[in-house]
Amino acid sequence: RPPAGLVAPQAIFGADRPNSQGFDLTDADTLARIEAARDGALPDAGPLTVRPGTGATRPVTNPATGETVAQVTEADAATVTRAIADAATWDAPVAERAAVLRRAAALYERDFGPFFAVLAREAGKTLSDAVGELREAVDFLRYYAGEAERGDPAPRGILTAISPWNFPLAIFTGQVAAALATGAGVLAKPAEQSPLVAAMAVRLLHEAGVPAAALQLLPGDGATVGRALTADPRIAGVIFTGSTETARAIRAVMADHLDPGAPLIAETGGLNAMIVDSTALPEQAVRDIVLSAFRSAGQRCSALRCLYVQEDVAPGLIEMIQGAMDELTLGDPWDLSTDVGPVIDMAARDSIAAHVDTARKQGRLLHERPAPEGCFVGPALIRIDGIADLQREIFGPVLHVATFRAADLHAVTRAVNATGYGLTFGLHSRIDTRVQDIADRIHAGNLYVNRNQIGAIVGSQPFGGEGLSGTGPKAGGPFYLPRLAAPAPAPAAG
Ligand code: GLU
Repeated sequence: RPPAGLVAPQAIFGADRPNSQGFDLTDADTLARIEAARDGALPDAGPLTVRPGTGATRPVTNPATGETVAQVTEADAATVTRAIADAATWDAPVAERAAVLRRAAALYERDFGPFFAVLAREAGKTLSDAVGELREAVDFLRYYAGEAERGDPAPRGILTAISPWNFPLAIFTGQVAAALATGAGVLAKPAEQSPLVAAMAVRLLHEAGVPAAALQLLPGDGATVGRALTADPRIAGVIFTGSTETARAIRAVMADHLDPGAPLIAETGGLNAMIVDSTALPEQAVRDIVLSAFRSAGQRCSALRCLYVQEDVAPGLIEMIQGAMDELTLGDPWDLSTDVGPVIDMAARDSIAAHVDTARKQGRLLHERPAPEGCFVGPALIRIDGIADLQREIFGPVLHVATFRAADLHAVTRAVNATGYGLTFGLHSRIDTRVQDIADRIHAGNLYVNRNQIGAIVGSQPFGGEGLSGTGPKAGGPFYLPRLAAPAPAPAAG
Protein backbone atom coordinates (compact mmCIF):
# COMPACT_ATOMS: atom_id res chain seq x y z
CA ARG A 1 0.00 0.00 0.00
CA PRO A 2 1.18 3.61 -0.42
CA PRO A 3 3.19 4.95 2.50
CA ALA A 4 1.05 6.74 5.05
CA GLY A 5 0.79 10.46 4.49
CA LEU A 6 2.59 10.53 1.19
CA VAL A 7 0.28 12.38 -1.09
CA ALA A 8 0.99 13.33 -4.65
CA PRO A 9 1.52 17.05 -5.20
CA GLN A 10 -1.58 18.74 -6.40
CA ALA A 11 -2.38 22.11 -7.83
CA ILE A 12 -6.06 22.35 -7.26
CA PHE A 13 -6.48 26.07 -6.79
CA GLY A 14 -4.89 26.51 -10.18
CA ALA A 15 -1.26 26.35 -11.14
CA ASP A 16 -0.56 29.70 -9.51
CA ARG A 17 -2.11 28.70 -6.19
CA PRO A 18 -1.01 25.16 -5.32
CA ASN A 19 -2.30 23.27 -2.28
CA SER A 20 0.08 22.35 0.50
CA GLN A 21 2.44 19.67 -0.74
CA GLY A 22 2.16 17.74 2.52
CA PHE A 23 4.93 15.90 4.30
CA ASP A 24 6.64 12.76 3.14
CA LEU A 25 6.61 10.22 5.94
CA THR A 26 9.11 8.06 4.07
CA ASP A 27 11.74 10.79 4.06
CA ALA A 28 14.42 10.21 6.71
CA ASP A 29 15.02 13.89 7.40
CA THR A 30 11.30 14.63 7.80
CA LEU A 31 10.94 11.65 10.11
CA ALA A 32 13.91 12.75 12.19
CA ARG A 33 12.38 16.18 12.66
CA ILE A 34 9.06 14.65 13.63
CA GLU A 35 10.74 12.29 16.09
CA ALA A 36 12.70 15.18 17.61
CA ALA A 37 9.43 17.00 18.31
CA ARG A 38 7.77 13.98 19.88
CA ASP A 39 8.28 14.78 23.56
CA GLY A 40 8.89 18.50 23.13
CA ALA A 41 7.48 21.00 25.57
CA LEU A 42 3.78 21.53 25.00
CA PRO A 43 2.59 25.10 24.52
CA ASP A 44 1.18 26.96 27.50
CA ALA A 45 -2.48 27.19 26.88
CA GLY A 46 -4.79 29.61 28.49
CA PRO A 47 -6.73 32.56 27.19
CA LEU A 48 -4.72 34.47 24.55
CA THR A 49 -6.45 37.78 25.01
CA VAL A 50 -5.55 41.46 24.75
CA ARG A 51 -5.69 41.82 28.52
CA PRO A 52 -4.58 38.82 30.57
CA GLY A 53 -7.34 36.34 31.29
CA THR A 54 -7.92 33.76 33.94
CA GLY A 55 -10.26 31.01 35.07
CA ALA A 56 -10.39 27.47 36.38
CA THR A 57 -7.96 24.86 35.11
CA ARG A 58 -8.86 21.74 33.17
CA PRO A 59 -6.53 18.82 32.43
CA VAL A 60 -5.78 17.88 28.83
CA THR A 61 -5.58 14.11 28.49
CA ASN A 62 -3.67 12.04 25.95
CA PRO A 63 -6.40 9.71 24.70
CA ALA A 64 -3.94 6.97 23.77
CA THR A 65 -2.32 6.74 27.21
CA GLY A 66 -4.74 8.39 29.63
CA GLU A 67 -1.92 10.66 30.84
CA THR A 68 -2.56 14.27 31.72
CA VAL A 69 -0.35 16.18 29.32
CA ALA A 70 -1.16 19.73 30.42
CA GLN A 71 -3.31 21.83 32.70
CA VAL A 72 -5.09 24.52 30.77
CA THR A 73 -6.50 27.71 32.22
CA GLU A 74 -9.95 28.26 30.81
CA ALA A 75 -11.47 31.68 30.35
CA ASP A 76 -13.92 32.71 33.05
CA ALA A 77 -16.93 34.95 32.40
CA ALA A 78 -15.00 38.14 33.20
CA THR A 79 -12.23 37.19 30.76
CA VAL A 80 -14.77 36.64 27.98
CA THR A 81 -16.45 39.97 28.71
CA ARG A 82 -13.12 41.80 28.59
CA ALA A 83 -12.12 40.03 25.38
CA ILE A 84 -15.36 41.06 23.67
CA ALA A 85 -14.77 44.66 24.79
CA ASP A 86 -11.19 44.60 23.47
CA ALA A 87 -12.00 42.86 20.18
CA ALA A 88 -11.44 44.93 17.05
CA THR A 89 -11.80 44.39 13.35
CA TRP A 90 -8.59 44.10 11.35
CA ASP A 91 -8.36 47.40 9.54
CA ALA A 92 -5.65 46.55 7.04
CA PRO A 93 -5.95 46.54 3.25
CA VAL A 94 -6.93 43.20 1.78
CA ALA A 95 -3.49 42.69 0.23
CA GLU A 96 -1.89 42.96 3.66
CA ARG A 97 -4.37 40.59 5.29
CA ALA A 98 -3.77 38.06 2.53
CA ALA A 99 -0.01 38.39 2.90
CA VAL A 100 -0.23 37.81 6.65
CA LEU A 101 -2.40 34.71 6.20
CA ARG A 102 0.11 33.34 3.67
CA ARG A 103 2.94 34.08 6.09
CA ALA A 104 1.02 32.15 8.74
CA ALA A 105 0.68 29.23 6.31
CA ALA A 106 4.47 29.14 5.92
CA LEU A 107 4.91 29.22 9.72
CA TYR A 108 2.48 26.33 10.11
CA GLU A 109 4.51 24.33 7.58
CA ARG A 110 7.75 25.26 9.33
CA ASP A 111 6.43 23.89 12.64
CA PHE A 112 5.13 20.57 11.34
CA GLY A 113 6.98 18.49 13.95
CA PRO A 114 5.54 20.27 17.01
CA PHE A 115 2.10 20.33 15.36
CA PHE A 116 2.14 16.56 14.78
CA ALA A 117 3.29 15.95 18.35
CA VAL A 118 0.50 18.07 19.84
CA LEU A 119 -2.10 16.55 17.51
CA ALA A 120 -1.05 13.08 18.67
CA ARG A 121 -0.78 13.93 22.34
CA GLU A 122 -3.98 15.88 22.88
CA ALA A 123 -6.22 14.50 20.13
CA GLY A 124 -4.85 11.00 19.47
CA LYS A 125 -4.24 11.79 15.80
CA THR A 126 -2.23 9.24 13.85
CA LEU A 127 0.72 10.64 11.98
CA SER A 128 -0.93 10.27 8.61
CA ASP A 129 -4.06 12.01 9.90
CA ALA A 130 -1.87 14.77 11.34
CA VAL A 131 -0.22 15.25 7.94
CA GLY A 132 -3.66 15.55 6.31
CA GLU A 133 -4.84 17.92 8.98
CA LEU A 134 -1.88 20.29 8.71
CA ARG A 135 -2.17 20.32 4.93
CA GLU A 136 -5.83 21.23 5.18
CA ALA A 137 -5.14 24.02 7.68
CA VAL A 138 -2.46 25.48 5.41
CA ASP A 139 -4.79 25.17 2.43
CA PHE A 140 -7.50 27.12 4.26
CA LEU A 141 -5.07 29.95 5.03
CA ARG A 142 -3.93 30.25 1.43
CA TYR A 143 -7.34 29.65 -0.09
CA TYR A 144 -9.16 32.31 1.93
CA ALA A 145 -6.26 34.73 1.39
CA GLY A 146 -6.79 34.31 -2.35
CA GLU A 147 -10.56 34.52 -2.07
CA ALA A 148 -10.30 37.76 -0.10
CA GLU A 149 -8.08 39.27 -2.79
CA ARG A 150 -10.60 38.17 -5.41
CA GLY A 151 -13.67 39.57 -3.66
CA ASP A 152 -12.29 42.34 -1.41
CA PRO A 153 -14.84 41.62 1.35
CA ALA A 154 -15.69 44.05 4.15
CA PRO A 155 -15.96 42.80 7.73
CA ARG A 156 -19.28 42.37 9.53
CA GLY A 157 -17.64 43.14 12.86
CA ILE A 158 -16.64 40.73 15.62
CA LEU A 159 -17.29 37.05 14.89
CA THR A 160 -17.33 34.04 17.19
CA ALA A 161 -15.70 30.80 15.99
CA ILE A 162 -16.46 27.56 17.84
CA SER A 163 -14.53 24.52 16.64
CA PRO A 164 -14.53 20.76 17.32
CA TRP A 165 -11.89 18.37 18.67
CA ASN A 166 -11.94 16.05 15.65
CA PHE A 167 -10.12 18.56 13.41
CA PRO A 168 -8.67 20.77 16.13
CA LEU A 169 -6.21 22.42 13.75
CA ALA A 170 -7.83 22.30 10.31
CA ILE A 171 -11.37 23.34 11.20
CA PHE A 172 -10.14 25.78 13.84
CA THR A 173 -7.88 27.39 11.25
CA GLY A 174 -10.49 27.34 8.50
CA GLN A 175 -13.00 29.24 10.62
CA VAL A 176 -10.47 31.77 11.88
CA ALA A 177 -8.76 32.29 8.52
CA ALA A 178 -12.06 32.92 6.75
CA ALA A 179 -13.15 35.47 9.33
CA LEU A 180 -9.78 37.22 9.31
CA ALA A 181 -9.69 37.25 5.53
CA THR A 182 -12.81 39.43 5.59
CA GLY A 183 -11.16 41.76 8.10
CA ALA A 184 -13.41 40.65 10.96
CA GLY A 185 -12.21 40.42 14.54
CA VAL A 186 -12.42 36.85 15.84
CA LEU A 187 -13.09 35.36 19.25
CA ALA A 188 -12.22 31.68 18.97
CA LYS A 189 -13.31 28.93 21.33
CA PRO A 190 -11.55 25.62 20.72
CA ALA A 191 -13.06 22.35 21.92
CA GLU A 192 -12.43 21.55 25.60
CA GLN A 193 -10.43 18.47 24.62
CA SER A 194 -8.05 20.27 22.24
CA PRO A 195 -6.96 23.74 23.39
CA LEU A 196 -3.22 23.18 22.94
CA VAL A 197 -3.06 22.95 19.18
CA ALA A 198 -5.36 25.97 18.95
CA ALA A 199 -2.96 27.95 21.15
CA MET A 200 -0.06 26.99 18.89
CA ALA A 201 -2.02 28.12 15.86
CA VAL A 202 -3.01 31.46 17.39
CA ARG A 203 0.58 32.22 18.39
CA LEU A 204 1.72 31.61 14.81
CA LEU A 205 -1.07 33.78 13.41
CA HIS A 206 -0.02 36.58 15.76
CA GLU A 207 3.63 36.03 14.81
CA ALA A 208 2.64 36.33 11.16
CA GLY A 209 1.08 39.73 11.84
CA VAL A 210 -2.56 39.26 12.86
CA PRO A 211 -3.22 42.00 15.46
CA ALA A 212 -3.87 40.76 19.00
CA ALA A 213 -7.26 42.47 19.12
CA ALA A 214 -8.35 40.82 15.86
CA LEU A 215 -7.77 37.29 17.14
CA GLN A 216 -8.26 36.19 20.73
CA LEU A 217 -8.43 32.62 22.01
CA LEU A 218 -10.86 31.71 24.76
CA PRO A 219 -10.54 28.09 25.84
CA GLY A 220 -13.42 26.81 27.93
CA ASP A 221 -16.66 24.89 27.84
CA GLY A 222 -19.86 25.56 25.97
CA ALA A 223 -21.88 26.49 29.03
CA THR A 224 -19.55 29.34 30.02
CA VAL A 225 -17.45 30.49 27.09
CA GLY A 226 -19.59 29.23 24.21
CA ARG A 227 -22.73 30.73 25.64
CA ALA A 228 -21.12 34.09 26.47
CA LEU A 229 -19.72 34.30 22.94
CA THR A 230 -23.10 33.69 21.31
CA ALA A 231 -25.27 35.76 23.66
CA ASP A 232 -23.56 39.14 23.42
CA PRO A 233 -25.18 41.67 21.09
CA ARG A 234 -21.74 42.92 20.03
CA ILE A 235 -21.18 39.62 18.18
CA ALA A 236 -21.97 40.02 14.48
CA GLY A 237 -22.08 36.32 13.57
CA VAL A 238 -21.15 32.81 14.66
CA ILE A 239 -19.22 30.07 12.87
CA PHE A 240 -19.74 26.66 14.42
CA THR A 241 -18.74 23.07 13.68
CA GLY A 242 -20.04 20.36 15.98
CA SER A 243 -23.23 18.50 16.75
CA THR A 244 -26.62 19.31 15.27
CA GLU A 245 -27.98 19.55 18.82
CA THR A 246 -25.44 22.21 19.85
CA ALA A 247 -26.09 24.14 16.64
CA ARG A 248 -29.78 24.26 17.55
CA ALA A 249 -28.96 25.54 21.03
CA ILE A 250 -26.68 28.22 19.58
CA ARG A 251 -29.36 29.31 17.15
CA ALA A 252 -31.83 29.72 20.02
CA VAL A 253 -29.38 31.79 22.08
CA MET A 254 -28.51 33.95 19.07
CA ALA A 255 -32.19 34.57 18.34
CA ASP A 256 -32.65 35.98 21.83
CA HIS A 257 -29.56 38.18 21.93
CA LEU A 258 -28.02 38.94 18.55
CA ASP A 259 -29.04 41.16 15.69
CA PRO A 260 -31.51 39.18 13.55
CA GLY A 261 -29.15 39.59 10.59
CA ALA A 262 -26.22 37.93 12.37
CA PRO A 263 -25.45 34.72 10.47
CA LEU A 264 -24.93 31.30 12.01
CA ILE A 265 -22.71 29.22 9.75
CA ALA A 266 -22.99 25.69 11.11
CA GLU A 267 -21.38 22.47 9.95
CA THR A 268 -22.96 19.64 11.90
CA GLY A 269 -23.47 15.88 11.92
CA GLY A 270 -24.12 13.31 9.26
CA LEU A 271 -25.60 9.86 8.82
CA ASN A 272 -23.60 9.12 5.72
CA ALA A 273 -24.36 6.25 3.37
CA MET A 274 -22.68 4.53 0.46
CA ILE A 275 -24.28 2.38 -2.22
CA VAL A 276 -22.25 -0.39 -3.83
CA ASP A 277 -23.98 -2.09 -6.72
CA SER A 278 -23.13 -5.34 -8.45
CA THR A 279 -21.10 -3.59 -11.16
CA ALA A 280 -18.64 -2.04 -8.69
CA LEU A 281 -15.04 -3.19 -8.62
CA PRO A 282 -14.95 -5.07 -5.33
CA GLU A 283 -11.27 -4.44 -4.46
CA GLN A 284 -11.63 -0.73 -5.01
CA ALA A 285 -14.95 -0.55 -3.17
CA VAL A 286 -13.57 -2.41 -0.16
CA ARG A 287 -10.53 -0.15 0.07
CA ASP A 288 -12.75 2.93 -0.06
CA ILE A 289 -15.28 1.52 2.41
CA VAL A 290 -12.61 0.70 4.99
CA LEU A 291 -10.96 4.10 4.60
CA SER A 292 -14.27 5.96 4.79
CA ALA A 293 -15.52 4.09 7.85
CA PHE A 294 -12.40 3.56 9.94
CA ARG A 295 -9.82 6.22 9.09
CA SER A 296 -9.47 8.69 11.98
CA ALA A 297 -11.21 6.01 14.09
CA GLY A 298 -14.42 7.03 12.34
CA GLN A 299 -14.33 10.43 14.04
CA ARG A 300 -15.12 12.48 10.97
CA CYS A 301 -18.51 13.90 10.27
CA SER A 302 -17.92 12.82 6.67
CA ALA A 303 -17.33 9.16 7.66
CA LEU A 304 -19.31 6.29 6.19
CA ARG A 305 -21.88 4.96 8.69
CA CYS A 306 -24.29 2.92 6.57
CA LEU A 307 -23.24 0.80 3.62
CA TYR A 308 -25.82 -0.56 1.19
CA VAL A 309 -24.58 -3.50 -0.87
CA GLN A 310 -26.54 -5.04 -3.72
CA GLU A 311 -27.84 -8.40 -2.53
CA ASP A 312 -26.19 -10.64 -5.14
CA VAL A 313 -22.65 -9.41 -4.39
CA ALA A 314 -23.14 -8.86 -0.65
CA PRO A 315 -21.75 -12.12 0.79
CA GLY A 316 -18.47 -11.83 -1.10
CA LEU A 317 -18.06 -8.13 -0.46
CA ILE A 318 -18.81 -8.43 3.26
CA GLU A 319 -16.26 -11.21 3.55
CA MET A 320 -13.68 -8.98 1.86
CA ILE A 321 -14.53 -6.09 4.22
CA GLN A 322 -13.96 -8.36 7.20
CA GLY A 323 -10.63 -9.44 5.75
CA ALA A 324 -9.60 -5.82 5.23
CA MET A 325 -10.66 -4.96 8.78
CA ASP A 326 -8.34 -7.71 10.02
CA GLU A 327 -5.45 -5.97 8.25
CA LEU A 328 -5.92 -2.70 10.14
CA THR A 329 -3.27 -1.89 12.73
CA LEU A 330 -4.66 -0.43 15.93
CA GLY A 331 -2.77 1.39 18.64
CA ASP A 332 -0.19 4.09 19.26
CA PRO A 333 -0.94 7.05 16.98
CA TRP A 334 2.76 7.90 16.84
CA ASP A 335 3.62 4.52 15.32
CA LEU A 336 3.86 4.93 11.54
CA SER A 337 2.08 1.64 10.90
CA THR A 338 -1.00 2.59 12.93
CA ASP A 339 -4.19 2.90 10.92
CA VAL A 340 -6.66 3.37 13.78
CA GLY A 341 -5.76 5.35 16.87
CA PRO A 342 -7.82 6.03 19.99
CA VAL A 343 -11.16 7.76 20.18
CA ILE A 344 -11.16 11.14 21.87
CA ASP A 345 -12.04 10.26 25.46
CA MET A 346 -13.47 7.57 27.74
CA ALA A 347 -16.99 8.99 27.49
CA ALA A 348 -16.84 8.55 23.70
CA ARG A 349 -15.34 5.07 24.08
CA ASP A 350 -18.10 3.96 26.47
CA SER A 351 -20.89 5.28 24.33
CA ILE A 352 -19.58 3.68 21.11
CA ALA A 353 -18.83 0.40 22.92
CA ALA A 354 -22.39 0.34 24.31
CA HIS A 355 -23.75 0.62 20.77
CA VAL A 356 -21.58 -2.31 19.64
CA ASP A 357 -22.63 -4.34 22.71
CA THR A 358 -26.28 -3.85 21.91
CA ALA A 359 -25.67 -5.15 18.39
CA ARG A 360 -23.78 -8.13 19.83
CA LYS A 361 -26.69 -9.02 22.10
CA GLN A 362 -29.09 -8.74 19.17
CA GLY A 363 -26.92 -11.08 17.08
CA ARG A 364 -26.18 -8.33 14.52
CA LEU A 365 -22.46 -7.95 15.09
CA LEU A 366 -20.83 -9.43 11.99
CA HIS A 367 -17.22 -8.63 12.82
CA GLU A 368 -15.15 -6.84 15.40
CA ARG A 369 -11.48 -6.21 16.09
CA PRO A 370 -10.32 -6.44 19.69
CA ALA A 371 -9.53 -2.99 21.08
CA PRO A 372 -6.26 -2.15 22.85
CA GLU A 373 -6.59 -1.19 26.53
CA GLY A 374 -7.82 2.31 27.25
CA CYS A 375 -9.57 4.77 25.06
CA PHE A 376 -9.87 2.53 22.00
CA VAL A 377 -12.77 0.97 20.12
CA GLY A 378 -12.10 -1.98 17.83
CA PRO A 379 -13.49 -1.44 14.32
CA ALA A 380 -16.87 -3.16 14.14
CA LEU A 381 -19.26 -4.22 11.40
CA ILE A 382 -22.97 -4.41 12.25
CA ARG A 383 -25.80 -5.77 10.13
CA ILE A 384 -28.94 -3.64 9.88
CA ASP A 385 -32.04 -3.68 7.70
CA GLY A 386 -31.63 -0.11 6.58
CA ILE A 387 -30.49 3.34 7.59
CA ALA A 388 -33.78 3.97 9.41
CA ASP A 389 -32.51 1.55 12.08
CA LEU A 390 -29.84 4.09 13.06
CA GLN A 391 -31.25 6.43 15.65
CA ARG A 392 -28.19 8.67 15.84
CA GLU A 393 -24.72 9.26 14.46
CA ILE A 394 -22.24 6.85 16.09
CA PHE A 395 -19.05 8.91 16.02
CA GLY A 396 -16.51 6.11 15.97
CA PRO A 397 -15.12 3.15 13.96
CA VAL A 398 -18.44 1.35 13.51
CA LEU A 399 -19.82 0.48 10.09
CA HIS A 400 -23.40 -0.68 9.51
CA VAL A 401 -24.28 -2.73 6.46
CA ALA A 402 -27.58 -3.44 4.75
CA THR A 403 -28.41 -5.11 1.46
CA PHE A 404 -30.74 -4.04 -1.33
CA ARG A 405 -32.20 -5.46 -4.53
CA ALA A 406 -31.73 -3.53 -7.77
CA ALA A 407 -35.46 -2.93 -8.00
CA ASP A 408 -35.37 -1.20 -4.59
CA LEU A 409 -32.64 1.31 -5.38
CA HIS A 410 -34.98 4.29 -5.21
CA ALA A 411 -36.34 3.09 -1.88
CA VAL A 412 -32.74 3.20 -0.63
CA THR A 413 -32.19 6.77 -1.79
CA ARG A 414 -35.52 7.76 -0.22
CA ALA A 415 -34.53 6.15 3.08
CA VAL A 416 -31.17 7.94 3.06
CA ASN A 417 -32.85 11.27 2.35
CA ALA A 418 -35.46 10.57 5.04
CA THR A 419 -32.83 10.73 7.78
CA GLY A 420 -32.88 14.49 7.30
CA TYR A 421 -29.09 14.63 7.22
CA GLY A 422 -27.23 15.36 4.01
CA LEU A 423 -23.48 15.51 4.37
CA THR A 424 -21.51 12.96 2.37
CA PHE A 425 -22.68 10.14 0.14
CA GLY A 426 -20.65 7.48 -1.64
CA LEU A 427 -21.51 5.49 -4.71
CA HIS A 428 -19.67 2.64 -6.37
CA SER A 429 -21.14 1.71 -9.74
CA ARG A 430 -19.95 1.35 -13.32
CA ILE A 431 -23.30 2.31 -14.83
CA ASP A 432 -23.15 5.96 -15.80
CA THR A 433 -26.91 6.41 -16.06
CA ARG A 434 -27.36 4.93 -12.58
CA VAL A 435 -24.72 7.23 -11.16
CA GLN A 436 -26.48 10.22 -12.67
CA ASP A 437 -29.88 9.04 -11.49
CA ILE A 438 -28.74 8.60 -7.89
CA ALA A 439 -26.80 11.85 -7.91
CA ASP A 440 -29.99 13.61 -8.99
CA ARG A 441 -32.01 12.08 -6.16
CA ILE A 442 -29.72 12.07 -3.18
CA HIS A 443 -29.59 15.03 -0.80
CA ALA A 444 -25.93 15.36 0.17
CA GLY A 445 -23.47 18.21 0.24
CA ASN A 446 -20.59 16.06 -0.98
CA LEU A 447 -21.18 13.13 -3.30
CA TYR A 448 -18.27 10.89 -4.19
CA VAL A 449 -18.33 8.35 -7.02
CA ASN A 450 -16.05 5.30 -7.17
CA ARG A 451 -13.77 6.61 -4.43
CA ASN A 452 -13.77 7.11 -0.66
CA GLN A 453 -15.99 9.76 0.87
CA ILE A 454 -13.71 11.53 3.35
CA GLY A 455 -10.97 14.12 3.19
CA ALA A 456 -12.52 16.86 1.10
CA ILE A 457 -9.79 19.05 -0.41
CA VAL A 458 -9.97 22.80 0.11
CA GLY A 459 -10.64 24.62 -3.13
CA SER A 460 -11.62 21.68 -5.30
CA GLN A 461 -14.08 19.91 -3.00
CA PRO A 462 -15.89 22.55 -0.93
CA PHE A 463 -17.24 20.72 2.11
CA GLY A 464 -20.58 21.01 3.84
CA GLY A 465 -24.04 19.51 4.03
CA GLU A 466 -27.69 20.28 3.88
CA GLY A 467 -30.68 19.63 6.13
CA LEU A 468 -29.61 18.54 9.61
CA SER A 469 -25.97 18.52 8.44
CA GLY A 470 -25.50 22.24 8.22
CA THR A 471 -26.49 25.64 7.02
CA GLY A 472 -23.91 26.10 4.28
CA PRO A 473 -22.00 27.76 2.74
CA LYS A 474 -19.42 25.05 2.15
CA ALA A 475 -16.03 25.45 3.77
CA GLY A 476 -13.17 25.83 1.34
CA GLY A 477 -15.48 27.03 -1.41
CA PRO A 478 -16.19 30.31 -3.19
CA PHE A 479 -19.41 31.17 -1.31
CA TYR A 480 -17.89 31.11 2.17
CA LEU A 481 -16.38 34.58 2.38
CA PRO A 482 -19.32 36.36 0.74
CA ARG A 483 -21.61 34.88 3.41
CA LEU A 484 -19.28 35.80 6.25
CA ALA A 485 -18.52 39.31 5.03
CA ALA A 486 -20.72 42.36 5.42
CA PRO A 487 -23.50 42.24 2.83
CA ALA A 488 -22.77 44.41 -0.19
CA PRO A 489 -24.73 47.66 -0.05
CA ALA A 490 -27.96 47.47 -1.98
CA PRO A 491 -27.77 49.25 -5.35
CA ALA A 492 -29.23 52.75 -5.19
CA ALA A 493 -32.91 52.84 -6.06
CA GLY A 494 -34.10 54.35 -9.29
N1 GLU B 1 -13.72 17.83 6.00
C1 GLU B 1 -13.56 16.54 6.59
C2 GLU B 1 -13.61 15.45 5.58
O1 GLU B 1 -13.97 15.69 4.46
C3 GLU B 1 -14.57 16.25 7.66
C4 GLU B 1 -14.79 17.37 8.61
C5 GLU B 1 -15.45 16.94 9.89
O2 GLU B 1 -15.40 15.80 10.30
O3 GLU B 1 -16.00 17.84 10.55
O4 GLU B 1 -13.31 14.33 5.91
